[in-house]
Amino acid sequence: MTMNKTQQPGAVLVTGGSRGIGRSTAIEAARAGYPVCITYVQNETEAHSVVEQAKSYGVQARAIQADVGDLTQVRSLFEALDVDFPPLYGLVNNAGIIGQRGSMLDISAESVADVFAVNVLGLIECCRQFLLRVDRVPEGSGRECVGVIVNLSSGAAQEGAPFHYIPYGASKAAVETFSVGLAKEVAAKGVRVNVVSPGVIDTDIHYPDGVRKSMEALAQTIAMGRMGTPQEIAHAIMWMLSAEASYVSGAVLRVAGGGRILRRT
Ligand code: NAP
Repeated sequence: MTMNKTQQPGAVLVTGGSRGIGRSTAIEAARAGYPVCITYVQNETEAHSVVEQAKSYGVQARAIQADVGDLTQVRSLFEALDVDFPPLYGLVNNAGIIGQRGSMLDISAESVADVFAVNVLGLIECCRQFLLRVDRVPEGSGRECVGVIVNLSSGAAQEGAPFHYIPYGASKAAVETFSVGLAKEVAAKGVRVNVVSPGVIDTDIHYPDGVRKSMEALAQTIAMGRMGTPQEIAHAIMWMLSAEASYVSGAVLRVAGGGRILRRT
């Protein structure tokens, strides 16, 4: 199990932990011995099933309803954890939305604002609240690494996602730039900041109307010929959180099955 240097297992907060990548990450974090808090917006039942699964590994676990796109709710989330949860060691900014899909002129200004509110502004406020707390660790407490932030990006940050979801891609590009800058600002404080950028992962995010449909055609555009699983991303996030990544900060780790290719017909 990976702990901070005082051998007090600091907690890990995973935003958007009720489903998909966040769910797998929360469960892997609990398996590794970290107390875990997840957030959710709508799926209370799913969120509580994650908590039960996490507790089965013998750690404290909690689910808090908090819309990351609402900065007041973000602040209340951290204040709630101050009261009766172990101090945070890890923050996984996983909550993310794609918003409306289509060509740019089909996407409303309100949807663009929602995407940036959740994916960028909420993520930044989570980082701020996290850093305010790890700053309270006294100087000379002997901890080399007082905290780790892992932010979720997407290949859309580079590809731009034309005709699909340009604002989402732009929001993830902002996440990457923000993370690289923040990593440099807080490195001397003992905080590492990294990005995991998943490829096409088999989660609900691909089925906005809730109807699962074949993704075979999409899978065939991926070098490995398949979508990734949420657990494969969770493993990368866990490595970023671990002491094995002790010299890794400001990195963007692409976990994408080799990336997209054009196949010969
Ligand atoms: P997902 O299956 O759609 O799950 C989203 C999770 O985030 C759910 O737990 C949801 O809670 C929560 N959530 C949604 N809006 C939220 C908000 N405003 N505040 C707090 N929580 C919120 O997503 P995913 O595919 O696992 O994606 C996770 C992250 O990876 C995202 O940042 C996404 O952009 C990124 N990513 C995913 C892929 C992919 O192919 N899946 C590829 C690249 C990047 P409820 O259950 O309550 O709705």
